[in-house]
Amino acid sequence: MVDLVIPEDFCTSDEIKPIGKTSHSDGENFHWIWTNPNADKLLASDNDDVKAAYEAHGEEITPLGIHGTTVAVDWDSCVAAGSCMSVCPVQTFQWYRTEKDIPAKDCLGETFDGTGLTEQDERLDYSDKSQPIREHDCTICMACQEICPQGAIRIEAANQEWHEKAAGTFVKMASTSVNPHAHD
Ligand code: SF4
Repeated sequence: MVDLVIPEDFCTSDEIKPIGKTSHSDGENFHWIWTNPNADKLLASDNDDVKAAYEAHGEEITPLGIHGTTVAVDWDSCVAAGSCMSVCPVQTFQWYRTEKDIPAKDCLGETFDGTGLTEQDERLDYSDKSQPIREHDCTICMACQEICPQGAIRIEAANQEWHEKAAGTFVKMASTSVNPHAHD
């Protein structure tokens, strides 16, 4: 496994606020988008396939941030390899451009139905990104984190707390209460 590019503490502070979110049209679920502390590196811009795809769209490569909190994907490092899609047992990810062919920066504040394609080689082109549209379904199997060739995915179940704190829905549990986030 390559080193992870997303730092462990990218969202774990009361001082850090998300820059926006992408919503699911089910009206219930969404994932946050966070500032990328390593945005100056824009690792995807080193990839010739990514550069060519952006040029074909007439778009510039600009900082896109970290999409997701428990399933965090560094869109500035994602090169649309699709390895995450090949291993995810619950189709957490979709190729966002196969649902809405818009610049990646415009996903901030946008709503998706989750009808995008989910197979490894179904990307629209190499400007596409792996979008954790079903972050809420993740089973924390860790397979995507381990296989991503860019180290662009960080899986951290404990970050659910920071997802909820940003949403204003976090409830601190008493030591004797049942964990509401536990899976059956
Ligand atoms: S950790 Fe497993 S279930 Fe969760 S997004 Fe990655 S591959 Fe899918």
